[in-house]
Amino acid sequence: MEIRRFFVTKSDISDGFAIIRGDEFAHMTRVLRYKAGYKAVVCANDGIERLCTVCEISKDSAKLRIDESRIADKKRVHVTLYAGLLKNNKLDFVIQKATELGIDRIVPFTSANCAETKFCAERANRIALEAAKQCGSAYLSEVGELIDFEALTAAVGAYDDVLIAYEAEKRMRIADCKPQGGNIALIVGPEGGFKEDEVKHIVSSGGKSVTLGRRILRAETASIVLCALLLDGIGELDND
Ligand code: SAM
Repeated sequence: MEIRRFFVTKSDISDGFAIIRGDEFAHMTRVLRYKAGYKAVVCANDGIERLCTVCEISKDSAKLRIDESRIADKKRVHVTLYAGLLKNNKLDFVIQKATELGIDRIVPFTSANCAETKFCAERANRIALEAAKQCGSAYLSEVGELIDFEALTAAVGAYDDVLIAYEAEKRMRIADCKPQGGNIALIVGPEGGFKEDEVKHIVSSGGKSVTLGRRILRAETASIVLCALLLDGIGELDND
């Protein structure tokens, strides 16, 4: 039987046991038909994989004994992707790929050229959960609530490095930026791109505009390229 992966919060782990509840409990029992004695990998968004055995299944939770734990992934840097809201649920693809790449948080934003206004964080977090399980991640990316551009500009001050992908930038590449900090923000615009003064605002708040090459990429392509180049540059795509 395949050993499935489940995500809990740190508070669900104590004294050598893990408690699974809520949607993960429903999936475990109703969809996967788990029974006492079954094995599971339990993660609490801390890079640790806990190999567990189901001890008890009650009406609304399952108690699992932690048989062994291992550090599966130790992140040296935390990365947040701020992604312009896209039409036709194309942000689903960005959330899925960013999660596979190990991006910590994805925060959608609206800006002047955004054509979309509707976003459901609960649905988006379900996409992130499935992506984390599929790629065997020991971390679960969090998808934040939709924010506007003003909130985005206010948020970037909290980061050590802020990189905004801007097709009018012709010089600065990711490789030239050499981010030093432990907390990095990446920003990609919506289908309609950024207004020049939006980019100026981010740059004047300490951000750097970066080019992703000579061609105009779709927003969802740009998100993946920006994340992958940054992560590789800081060694987060290494295997150690
Ligand atoms: N403004 C563009 C136009 O008028 O064709 C479209 C924007 S593009 C579809 C969406 C986002 O992807 C941009 O806001 C930018 O963040 C990013 N992007 C696309 N191509 C890029 C490139 N070559 N360099 C840097 N960023 C790029």
